[in-house]
Amino acid sequence: MNTRYVSTRGDAPELGFADVLLAGLASDGGLYVPNGWPSLPDVARDATYAELAAAVIAPFVGDDIDHDTLGRLCDEAYATFGHPATVPLVQIDDHHYVQELFHGPTLAFKDVALQLVGRMFDHVLSQRHERIRIVGATSGDTGSAAIDGVKGCEHVEIVILYPHGRTSDVQRKQMTTVDSPNVRTVAIDGTFDDCQDLVKAMFNDAPFRESQRLSAVNSINWARVMSQVVYYVAATRQLAGPLTFCVPTGNFGNVLSGWIAQRMGAPIEQFVVASNTNDILTRFLRSNDMSTADVVPTLSPSMDIQVSSNFERLLFEMNGRDGGLTAEQLQRFRSTGRLSVEDDQRAEWLDGVFVAERIDDEATIEVIRRTHAATGMLLDPHSAVGVGAVERLRAAGEITGPVVTLATAHPAKFPDAVERATGVRPPLPPHLADLFDRPERTTVLPNDLATVQRYVATTFGH
Ligand SMILES: *Cc1c(COP(=O)(O)O)cnc(C)c1O
Repeated sequence: MNTRYVSTRGDAPELGFADVLLAGLASDGGLYVPNGWPSLPDVARDATYAELAAAVIAPFVGDDIDHDTLGRLCDEAYATFGHPATVPLVQIDDHHYVQELFHGPTLAFKDVALQLVGRMFDHVLSQRHERIRIVGATSGDTGSAAIDGVKGCEHVEIVILYPHGRTSDVQRKQMTTVDSPNVRTVAIDGTFDDCQDLVKAMFNDAPFRESQRLSAVNSINWARVMSQVVYYVAATRQLAGPLTFCVPTGNFGNVLSGWIAQRMGAPIEQFVVASNTNDILTRFLRSNDMSTADVVPTLSPSMDIQVSSNFERLLFEMNGRDGGLTAEQLQRFRSTGRLSVEDDQRAEWLDGVFVAERIDDEATIEVIRRTHAATGMLLDPHSAVGVGAVERLRAAGEITGPVVTLATAHPAKFPDAVERATGVRPPLPPHLADLFDRPERTTVLPNDLATVQRYVATTFGH
């Protein structure tokens, strides 16, 4: 079977997996989704996480990566994780478990997808005798995870722009200390938005984009969403269900992966969508109000997002897979700043499936403190937003039964908030213990498009 992919806006060519992997965004501005949802495969009880991953994603990949290669790529990707269970479940309360997704090389859940996606890029490009140059902007977690995912690749080069002096020390060091000939980091004299604008401008410059073979690995890439389906399936194989999952959310990508696991037959009851003060999704799910507001900086910066781009994939399903209708609705959202859906759509697709809660910084600190006092566990602020949402919805009787909260970052990645809450400064794990002694390599550039383009075009010497 070979899955084909269609755009959520209905006006781009159908593609196979490898083309979708390399394309990222569809040519009509939409996101690629498979033309149907396969059923979960039968997988031996004693399968490793890597074996489970290869089996769950095989139908999405089809013949574009052969079976043995897919197995090898999964083995290599998850061998980089510092825990034998890859994504272990830890019980913190009656019926409440935390799934630790942060044992990858850069200590955030983005490693689960990007360690595999980087290897898939390299494999597909080597078969095609092609190279690409990834250019991205980061405020923290995505840049380090993307760099680590491609640092060993022969057919991929990567340039990551970050705002000079505006990332945390751990986040910057994780990017600038990688010693690999295909990796560059650039500190831009400006804000994260300036970095993003520079990247957008480079992609919009068609001659530059083509001569440099520019590519992206942002969170709308289908292969990232697909790779994240696996840990939901892994949890449902270990715990008696059906389970509720609580997901600390920014772009909706992680929640969407869980929803896909449910479509594929995983015994999942519902999803708790947990947000910080930037609560567009909570407002939408609770009161049908999807209206943009200014982004407020919080203790959980990777969730400081206003437009949850992956929501478009769910919207496409809610519209009966009508791409024209979805494109129209998004056009209205862009021009008015508001999106709402019909009552019957809500009843069919959202009610009873998604519940939402918002946890502000003060409550986040209190959850970290309380959880540490009760269990000894240190939660990072993103994971704490999730745990706090579950506790509040439990108390209100809105959720019952076993719950798994996804822990999306290691506490040592956000040590200041953890120390403020508990008095304990979480140490970096052994593979990063000497991070602060490693030499940094970075280039500081002004916020000037021509200068940055010249750098991207010449830094690899070909
Ligand atoms: C990226 C990120 C999130 C948000 O994930 P989405 O897929 O955008 O919902 C949450 N927590 C951490 C630590 C992250 O790095």
